[in-house]
Amino acid sequence: MLAHPRRLQQITILGATGSIGGSTLDVVHRHRQRYAVFALTASTQVDRLAGLCQRFNPKYAVMADVASAERLRRILHEAGNQTEVLAGAEALAEVSSATEVDIVMSAIVGAAGLKPTLAAVRAGKKVLLANKETLVMSGALFMDEVAKSGAVLLPIDSEHNAVFQALPHDYQSNPDAAGVRRILLTASGGPFRNTPLDQLEQVTPEQACAHPTWQMGKKISVDSATMMNKGLEVIEAHWLFAVPPQRIEVIVHPQSVIHSMVDYVDGSVVAQLGYPDMRIPIAHALAWPERIASGVSALDLFDIGTVSFERPSFERFPCLGLAYQSLQRGGLAPAVLNAANEEAVAAFLGRKLGFRAITEVITATLARADTSAPATSIEGVLDADAGARRIAREEIDRIFARRQVS
Ligand code: NAD
Ligand code: MG
Repeated sequence: MLAHPRRLQQITILGATGSIGGSTLDVVHRHRQRYAVFALTASTQVDRLAGLCQRFNPKYAVMADVASAERLRRILHEAGNQTEVLAGAEALAEVSSATEVDIVMSAIVGAAGLKPTLAAVRAGKKVLLANKETLVMSGALFMDEVAKSGAVLLPIDSEHNAVFQALPHDYQSNPDAAGVRRILLTASGGPFRNTPLDQLEQVTPEQACAHPTWQMGKKISVDSATMMNKGLEVIEAHWLFAVPPQRIEVIVHPQSVIHSMVDYVDGSVVAQLGYPDMRIPIAHALAWPERIASGVSALDLFDIGTVSFERPSFERFPCLGLAYQSLQRGGLAPAVLNAANEEAVAAFLGRKLGFRAITEVITATLARADTSAPATSIEGVLDADAGARRIAREEIDRIFARRQVS
């Protein structure tokens, strides 16, 4: 007898035109008998989203602003495509929480991802979290919402997905019994692992975005070059796995084959390995607790030959230290750190700021912003984010003016 055909799982992809969005659609396309696309969203890449709508026929497409939505609507109408086009933050929340939706991939970059991801969580969806900034900004509040709604939260960040795989299945229900000594987050060290320190100020956005092992969006590529990405991931790991910062260790592993490890009290260390390709964690989380093919070939350990490990340099990568300090400080400090970083990275990519000045902006913003208040509401977090951005922009202008004079 034929097995009963399973119902197609409806998926919303927030940030469909990005690097994670593209990898997600690649995996979804390989499993068309299992997944259907409910909604695709993008900020302003109209032509790219139009192409994706033609290929995947989602029920909805959402653009960040009305003008982009109007352009997309026209293109799709002329092509005879039935996708309904919406615009703005409320529409993002709607396609993340709609009754028909089973799975939401949260792959918008930066703080803009917070509200729609929260909407998906509050609606109790299976939420695939790539947008680490959400957890950095609102960690405790976000995890409370997950617990309240019964949403299933699965990490997409390769390190956290690896840790999730290396932890026991019932870890969340009884973390103390699991005997976790440390979480070991691996880091490639980025493109400037061996660049002489006195040359770092001259590096260009193109050099910073040329990651040695991963293909990613621009913002996370710069974060990898400063190692702020690993700092944000320490904060992310703290909230996902309820492990204190002093038991989360960063290990530089340039080959990016071991995606992270869990060190247990009995001396066992459990690791997850694979090629550096985000389709692996995406396929893992999409099908979890089942497994499906991701399109990535089998790992050839003979080809890799050697794996190596180094201690990270907090002198070379001061952003890593700033992230640990913000997590220790708690409250609104991580939200301020994140906002200042987003502004500084945008200014660096816009060639207004040198590479090392990214750290200067974040340090100054953390010193000036009021981070003493606890994070008691999402509105409070968003206010702290807006306030920190104002300070960071002042600092960027100040550094820019100084550079023009010298
Ligand atoms: P990206 O820049 O390639 O794509 C970002 C997506 O978000 C695009 O679709 C863009 O249109 C959309 N977007 C940007 N600003 C928006 C706004 N204001 N409103 C609505 N939509 C907006 O980024 P990415 O590399 O795919 O990263 C996405 C997220 O996943 C980030 O949080 C990143 O840290 C995380 N992540 C990425 C990777 C990776 O390999 N790329 C790995 C781990 C985690
Ligand atoms: Mg990562």
